[in-house]
Amino acid sequence: DLEIAIKVVIVGNGAVGKSSMIQRYCKGTFTKEYKKTIGVDFLERQIECEGEDVRLMLWDTAGQEEFDAITKAYYRGAQACVLAFSTTDRDSFEAIQSWKKKVEDECGEIPTVLVQNKIDLMDQNVIEPEEVDLLARMLGCRLLLTSVKEDVNVNAVFRHLASRCLAE
Ligand code: GDP
Ligand code: MG
Repeated sequence: DLEIAIKVVIVGNGAVGKSSMIQRYCKGTFTKEYKKTIGVDFLERQIECEGEDVRLMLWDTAGQEEFDAITKAYYRGAQACVLAFSTTDRDSFEAIQSWKKKVEDECGEIPTVLVQNKIDLMDQNVIEPEEVDLLARMLGCRLLLTSVKEDVNVNAVFRHLASRCLAE
C-alpha cells in the first residue's frame, strides 16, 4: 500500500536542541556533546498514523542557523515545521517569530508546532509560562514542552505533525 513521506524542517536558534531532537527521535540516543552537525541532511523514522504508514524525514540545519545562512534547499518541499526554543535561552524565545516568518516565506502555511525544549532545566527557566502561551496563541500553533534529554514529549511533537499533515 501507499506510503506517505513528510519532510519536516526543525528551526530555531543554535543550541536549543534541534539536532538532539532529531537524533533522539530517529536513533533513540542523546549526547551532551555539542555537535554542530549530524553529518547528513536528514534522518528518518517510520511510524503508523491513523492506519497509514508515514515516513518522517527530519531535516537538520548543520549549524548554518547561527550564520543566518540556511539555504532554500533546506526549506524546499517542507510539509511540516518545528519551531524550537530553549527554556534557558531568552534570545531563542524572542527569535521564534522571525523563524516562523522565514519558514512561511519559503513554504507558505504548513502544519507547525511550537516547542519549548529543555524543560528538565526548569530551575534555570528565563521565560514566563504566560509569555509562551501567548506566543503560541498568536502564532496559532500547538505548544509542546519537551525534554530531549529525558525523552519527554518528543514523540508527541512528530505524532501531532503527522496527523495534521494527514488531515490536510
Ligand atoms: P542545536 O544547535 O539546536 O542543534 O542544538 P543541539 O542539539 O546541538 O544541542 C545543544 C546542547 O543542548 C547539547 O549539549 C545538547 O546535549 C543539549 N540539549 C539538547 N536538548 C536538551 C534537553 O532537553 N535538556 C538538556 N538539559 N540539554 C539538552
Ligand atoms: Mg544542530
